[in-house]
Amino acid sequence: MTGIYAENSEGIFKKSVLEAAAYASQISTDGVIAVCIGEPNAGEADKLSKYGVTKLIVVEGLHSFDAQNYSKAIAANLEGIKTLILANTYEGKSIAPRVSVLMNGSLATNVVSLPDMSNGFTVKRGVFSGKGFAYVQLNRENKIVAITPNSIELKENPVSISIVKTSVSESEKLTQITSTNKTAGKIPLTEAEIVVSAGRGMKGPENWGMVEELAGLLGAATACSKPVSDMDWRPHSEHVGQTGITIKPNLYIAIGISGAIQHLAGVSSSKVIVVINKDPEAPFFKAADYGIVGDAFEILPQLIAAAKAAKN
Ligand SMILES: Cc1cc2nc3c(=O)[nH]c(=O)nc-3n(C[C@H](O)[C@H](O)[C@H](O)COP(=O)(O)OP(=O)(O)OC[C@H]3O[C@@H](n4cnc5c(N)ncnc54)[C@H](O)[C@@H]3O)c2cc1C
Repeated sequence: MTGIYAENSEGIFKKSVLEAAAYASQISTDGVIAVCIGEPNAGEADKLSKYGVTKLIVVEGLHSFDAQNYSKAIAANLEGIKTLILANTYEGKSIAPRVSVLMNGSLATNVVSLPDMSNGFTVKRGVFSGKGFAYVQLNRENKIVAITPNSIELKENPVSISIVKTSVSESEKLTQITSTNKTAGKIPLTEAEIVVSAGRGMKGPENWGMVEELAGLLGAATACSKPVSDMDWRPHSEHVGQTGITIKPNLYIAIGISGAIQHLAGVSSSKVIVVINKDPEAPFFKAADYGIVGDAFEILPQLIAAAKAAKN
């Protein structure tokens, strides 16, 4: 039996969870069980059933994300499950190794392919900050696979789904979160399908209004280069690259970023890269699918106007 961890954000299953479900249903011969923490919104379970999930176990009693409590609760509901699939998100990355220890299983993170069953259970995973791939065979009976968002085809496999509820009591909790402080209304960078990113070419934090406006019109998250966050022009949570976050959106728009190797390490797996730079020799153009040579302060207003026109 194959399982997935169905991470939910305020009751909603994101695309990366549906990808985990599609992945699991393609390797399972006897159904897919999803475990989620907290009650999903009405209709959300149907989204999972469209991708082959036959049973949803809803764990109640945990109110804020805590990797230790979540991992313990997930592992406690994996009876009969030999393979667990998660999305390689912030949450998935913290849970996968913990559940792997609790299941005494083999773990692969950053996975970008379905397993090759003719070769044991071998998966392809991104390594060296996305600069290479490794093929890893998972040898233990229990297997934990964390898949990179946007890597797996969303193949439908509609089935009917049953829902069961269970709960964690206060005494079973390993830790207790007393308060959380959440940034509301923003698209998480690691999950965004479109990212608008800018670098030192924007000259100063006062010019980020244009970057944010374009991102808003495209439904994109914003990101930045390391010096930009080092200078406090933007928060560190937006810093992408070797020492920042690794992302793999469908579209990455880089504005006034030179394309240093350390920056590319975090973004080069993006499906389509668009570079805007006034220097035709900027290294980023070598990694770009589309390039615009020109001044960002002239090009951004034109892109914003075009995005507005396309919306109307
Ligand atoms: C160990 C190590 C780790 C690092 N990790 C990271 C990392 O994780 N992420 C990261 O980003 N960097 C990282 N760096 C830094 C990296 O080497 C580069 O210095 C950095 O990416 C450069 O940022 P930038 O492109 O914004 O700035 P710059 O190199 O200053 O480039 C600015 C670009 O903007 C262009 N430009 C200027 N004005 C305009 C305009 N008006 N319109 C259009 N284009 C314009 C310029 O032509 C230039 O190409 C790391 C470095 C080291 C040594």
